[in-house]
Amino acid sequence: MLEEKSPQLTPISAYGEFGLIKHLTENFSFENPSTEISIGDDAAVINPENRKVVVTTDILAEGVHFNLGYVPLKHLGYKAVVVNLSDIAAMNAVPTQILVSLAVSNRFPVEALEEIYAGISLACKHYKVDLVGGDTTSSNSGLVMSITAIGLEDSQNLVGRNGAKPNDLLVVTGDLGGAYLGLQILEREHAVFLANPDMQPEMEGYDYILEKQLKPEARTDIKNILKELHIKPTSMIDVSDGLSSETLHLSDQSKVGFRIYEEKIPLDSLTIATAEELNLNPVMCALNGGEDYELLFTISPNDFEKIKNHPDFTVIGHAVEMEQGNFLVARGSNELIALNAQGWDAFLRSKKS
Ligand code: ADP
Ligand code: MG
Repeated sequence: MLEEKSPQLTPISAYGEFGLIKHLTENFSFENPSTEISIGDDAAVINPENRKVVVTTDILAEGVHFNLGYVPLKHLGYKAVVVNLSDIAAMNAVPTQILVSLAVSNRFPVEALEEIYAGISLACKHYKVDLVGGDTTSSNSGLVMSITAIGLEDSQNLVGRNGAKPNDLLVVTGDLGGAYLGLQILEREHAVFLANPDMQPEMEGYDYILEKQLKPEARTDIKNILKELHIKPTSMIDVSDGLSSETLHLSDQSKVGFRIYEEKIPLDSLTIATAEELNLNPVMCALNGGEDYELLFTISPNDFEKIKNHPDFTVIGHAVEMEQGNFLVARGSNELIALNAQGWDAFLRSKKS
């Protein structure tokens, strides 16, 4: 890791608190006219210009949300931004600013923070968001990072979780389950490394799913694609905890039930192959794996023609009356299996055997 590469490490104490913040943030530039005052004052000032302000925050704790044994710090910084921008995208808003708060133990040298900020900077440039503030403090145990993201949007464009109606179509972007399988590969190779540090990790051929896990992207592109297709989703959520749990959230907030067709769930060929290698059911990985950061939304059935052949979207099911509940329609048998975050694991494993 970092310690091996660079013997000349700088303790955080070598910089004063202000010096450290300045050092870490001096190369950030500003893209958004809505950013009026940013780092260096007591608070940032944002000018929403008659748009609604959309705000979200996420906390990442070492040992709970990430393991620095196999997550590079630069990727961690990038992903910490992405998971917040994904929430802004799920409201159909445009992300514009972020704030970054860090609690770090003195086991981290300045060079480690530079890596995190390199990842944050990359994400800011890629998504055209401005870093406008944060907070920095010490921690007695490891690294905790909290990012707040701000987005702006005209109020008529915002999409909540609560607008789905019976017969609406359930649509997902991209493919699912990859991030979970990427994590399984990282954990497998990390365990091998811990048992025998001379062993080379076998990561070759897993690029797509490793990238889905380590360097996910927020689907901020979907807003414009939907706009061009003249579609406004009736409800929307991002897939951070798995398709099953996100569908239940839409159900709960919209007061509808859902049918998801197992055969329609989009899976990448590497996701399927890796699941088979690890003796997992790839559908289970999509339903319960999480961290895919795709968008899950409902549209009016009248919009089906506009979306049906689009490469970014898959129609995976539809909404029904709330009393009809939430079920997966099994491939082949058409058996209805309750979409229940708890019951899945057992069912899908027993189905495989
Ligand atoms: P205060 O004492 O008023 O909280 P700070 O010294 O914490 O001020 O912060 C000074 C400035 O630096 C503020 O604009 C703050 O938002 C920003 N800042 C502090 N920590 C970070 C950080 N980790 N990343 C980005 N900006 C930060
Ligand atoms: Mg402060």
